[in-house]
Amino acid sequence: MRYPLNYIKITQYFHTGKCLDFGWNNSYGGRTAPVFAVAEGVVYKTRYDSVGGNQIFINHFNGMRSGYSHLSKILVKVGDRVEIGQQIGNIGNTGTGANKKHHLHFSLLKQDNDLDYGDYNPLNYLEVYPGQFINEDTVKKYGSQIRYYSQDDNKYHYVYNVDDRGLNVRNAPNGIVIGNICFGTPVLVYENNGNWSRIGINKWVYSSYLTRSEPKSYMVNSKNGLNVRNKPSMSGTILRTMTYETVVGVFATSGTWVKINPNANYWCSKNYLTEVYVPPYN
Ligand SMILES: [Zn+2]
Repeated sequence: MRYPLNYIKITQYFHTGKCLDFGWNNSYGGRTAPVFAVAEGVVYKTRYDSVGGNQIFINHFNGMRSGYSHLSKILVKVGDRVEIGQQIGNIGNTGTGANKKHHLHFSLLKQDNDLDYGDYNPLNYLEVYPGQFINEDTVKKYGSQIRYYSQDDNKYHYVYNVDDRGLNVRNAPNGIVIGNICFGTPVLVYENNGNWSRIGINKWVYSSYLTRSEPKSYMVNSKNGLNVRNKPSMSGTILRTMTYETVVGVFATSGTWVKINPNANYWCSKNYLTEVYVPPYN
């Protein structure tokens, strides 16, 4: 998850649960600086609350909800799908809780928590993205807790389960099986622990079955199904036939053919695939 402001200055730590307040700076938009969604998600609620002022709550696919209060402007509405880093509003001083001071009150909540009482420590989940700047005092006070986004690892990227037998989801690294993901389903990796990747709250998968690919999913649009061949040509041997509406990821392209498995020569014609939005497993 990305910090909600491009200028990162923590002005109040843990209050009303584990909420954080963030200040502003003239070089980064001033006291009405843009506020950004911390992750992809769907707007759950917007409202004016006498204490919290103009508020936005967004449900994310990792099972968390983010909350933004005292806004001067709300730029989204309930049901909107938002991308990570999309501007959703502006800093303000609305609501009595703002004490007339412009700042962003931010929370990470469980999705069954309808009160703005922070459940999770945002510092454990937010990362500093390129283009974001951390205030020096904030580094001094909270430096050891600040996390940085890295493009070199697989974190926070769409990845695909590449094993067409499906992939078990466990409650902990090496834990008990609590679910199964089909081939082609995107997941977001939040944390790695040895050979294991955390793809949600208490949801872990074996990392070697995940591969970064295009952050897109495709669905078989032919009612008759779609043949998978061992090379990008009609002369390739048919390995299997995928049924209508099977979802796949794409790992390579050759002409009008796409490779749907990064580890094996599984090719099919792109003419019978339609791009679809599949929410990441959570
Ligand atoms: Zn606050």
